[in-house]
Amino acid sequence: MRLDLSDTKSDFLQREIETMPVQQIKENQLKKVQAIINKAYLENPYYKNLCIESDVMPSDIKNYEDIQKLPFLDKASVRNAYPFKLLLTEQKNVVEYHTTSGTTGKAIGICATKEDMDRWAEVNARSLWMCGCRPGDVMLMSFAYGLATGIGFQYGAQLMGMGVVPGGIGRTDFLVDLIKDFKVNTITTTPSYGLYLEKKAMEKGIDIPKDCHLKNGLFGAEPWPESTRQKLEDALGIEAYNEFGMGEFLGPGMACECKKKNGMHVWSDHILVECIDPNTGEWVDGGEEGELVFSWIGSETCAMLRYRSHDIASVQWEECECGRTHPRLGRILGRSDDGISISGYVVFPTKVEEMLSSIDNLGLNFRMIIETVNRVDHLHLITEVSDNEILLSAEATDILTKTVIKSCKTELGMTPSVKLVETGSLPRDDENGKTASKRVEDRRAPLSD
Ligand code: ZN
Repeated sequence: MRLDLSDTKSDFLQREIETMPVQQIKENQLKKVQAIINKAYLENPYYKNLCIESDVMPSDIKNYEDIQKLPFLDKASVRNAYPFKLLLTEQKNVVEYHTTSGTTGKAIGICATKEDMDRWAEVNARSLWMCGCRPGDVMLMSFAYGLATGIGFQYGAQLMGMGVVPGGIGRTDFLVDLIKDFKVNTITTTPSYGLYLEKKAMEKGIDIPKDCHLKNGLFGAEPWPESTRQKLEDALGIEAYNEFGMGEFLGPGMACECKKKNGMHVWSDHILVECIDPNTGEWVDGGEEGELVFSWIGSETCAMLRYRSHDIASVQWEECECGRTHPRLGRILGRSDDGISISGYVVFPTKVEEMLSSIDNLGLNFRMIIETVNRVDHLHLITEVSDNEILLSAEATDILTKTVIKSCKTELGMTPSVKLVETGSLPRDDENGKTASKRVEDRRAPLSD
């Protein structure tokens, strides 16, 4: 794919694709799904068997809604297919191999042909351009390199003529020097590592917004609340954008925010996204929260159709103010398997984090402890204050506690007990990127079968 990079004033790298009418996007998506399913059914015994088990034939997929008839894939079925059972091409055509991290069991293998790699670079270039990056810019690629990787940003950046510093993660002191010395103006990393870089820079006496040239940051690989955007923008002197990718689909390049910062556009010539009720498997209405299900349709290399991500978010097809027509993902609220059921309410730790971070005078760290008191589940919320002075005044403590409880009632539908503690008193682990779900301690006895 040869990109036209000449119009650097344009907000669009590929205007025709990015602003394609929704009807046409969906027609193209249906055609691609039909092509993949036909090929898979004819040539791939593993996928054919899944179809037979679900009682669906390729000829059953006549219109867009029929996509719902196809079987779901999940981690187990994709792991069972390891390494090549979902492949729709010969192994000799594969030019890059990836796996997921394999931290929770056997890894998932992902294969890409030359054509897939070109398209992957193209969608990543599209995301970078959308966030204001242009040829000649310098990007620090600061996701970990390896088998489960953010390297797609590097391919995309180089395709559109940016310079790349392949820094990865670690040796943070040195990376700070490189940001300054190489006049890096774009960074791709996790939000927690972005904030950690700033902390390390301060220790070295470098004030990033003043002493460096950063202007854009694309952050992903862990859910982050809206309040973190402001922190990143202030700490690094940048515009901070949310991006989304999964190792099962190569990595970044699936979805990214535009300058409106109002949801991440899913590149729908590459990825088809559905939003389902995790319990029934049926589509939820546009804009409603549900579990995201992805199909890799930019490729006929792999029968990666209807993969359940277990990520919870909304999908909005309404046209964005930026003019792009590709649907937008709301912020990832958590995982359907991370949702904690407490007395009949399902609570997502990321939602708690988002709620707490919107309340003035609270610190950055919290703990959720769930236990059974008199046979009823109860949530205890322990949260740091931003200024320990507050705890010296009984009245201020009382007001802030009540504010937190009220907010829980409104946002979560439940009333926890709340304890405010001194700033810095809860354990923290900045470098490893503590995510909200790790702040949960479930003390309830496990249910017996
Ligand atoms: Zn937009």
